Amino acid sequence: MSRFWSDVVHRLTPYVPGEQTERPDVVKLNTNENPYGPSPRVLEALRENIGDALRLYPDPVSANLRKAIARRFDVTPAHVFVGNGSDEVLAHTFRALLTHRAPVLFPDVTYSFYPVYCRLFGTSYKQIALNARFEIDIDDYLQDNGGIIFPNPNAPTGLALDTTQIERLLNANTESVVVVDEAYVDFGCKSVVPLVHHHPHLLVTHTLSKSYALAGLRVGYAIGHPDLIDGLERVKDSFNSYPVDRLAQTAAVAAIEDVEYLAESCRRIVDSRERMARDLHGLGFEVLPSKANFLLVRHPGHGAGNLSASLRERGVIVRHFGKPERIAAYLRISVGTEAQCALLLDALREILE
Ligand code: PMP
Repeated sequence: MSRFWSDVVHRLTPYVPGEQTERPDVVKLNTNENPYGPSPRVLEALRENIGDALRLYPDPVSANLRKAIARRFDVTPAHVFVGNGSDEVLAHTFRALLTHRAPVLFPDVTYSFYPVYCRLFGTSYKQIALNARFEIDIDDYLQDNGGIIFPNPNAPTGLALDTTQIERLLNANTESVVVVDEAYVDFGCKSVVPLVHHHPHLLVTHTLSKSYALAGLRVGYAIGHPDLIDGLERVKDSFNSYPVDRLAQTAAVAAIEDVEYLAESCRRIVDSRERMARDLHGLGFEVLPSKANFLLVRHPGHGAGNLSASLRERGVIVRHFGKPERIAAYLRISVGTEAQCALLLDALREILE
């Protein structure tokens, strides 16, 4: 606390990121990183671009990267906005498109950064309870709002909506922007990007942090009608004109273009997820059917806080959210390599005995 802080700083409740450690002896399954590295083509692009050109500012509009994304998703570069991680893209989205008289709507159990942005930007918001099965029910969002945002698949539940449900929402809610945060879409869920051609109020956000294994590079992007993208550009150029550095721009192009590597990396993670879900179920865990690279699980006989602490003693870090109350009994476990999943299961067997 400092007397020099502005009023808004006193009122903030900052997001708390999951713990980061680079200790090689730790099995790190707490922040949904990809256990496999990025495409070799990404590393090559990085090596090629380390040089004298770093004295120059990067392209402020990331033209090459936007072109690569546009080609991949069959849109034009004017439909694409890129930023320093999708967190930054989301921040600009709250500022540019979701801050209105009526509250922005999002689930009560969802990405906990959303309410943080609202407090930073003075955005009014209303949290809509997931149904008893932890699903998003579209009908609950058909009410006065200044915008709607949810991840698909949702985090930390991993549960996904199908395209028809999102289309129904877009048809019923046409007077405000609907943002679908597809951070985990590549792990077995269908993207709604093609719908941007018919719905000028749809914005879809993606990240290179999960399926592309580039959390350390910080690149995210949004796809939507050029009018929405213009709004984001206006905020970006009032905040930081060069959010994506030179290395990140070239490496991200290489990542987006290596579609085979992406598919193979995701396939391995999805296989491990399904095996891990069966094994955890076998140990008595209730496992939500996830379409993401993590599982939300609960053991009827053991508290999540104790399990998390016991796992940590055995060198395995998972995420336990104390809040909201509805998920306090659950652990969120990222899908690791086969070897990491095996270590997790060994540790759990030991703890449960
Ligand atoms: N959306 C969701 C649902 C997430 O879980 C995350 C990762 N914490 C992000 C967005 C942000 O990812 P990044 O800033 O790494 O692109």
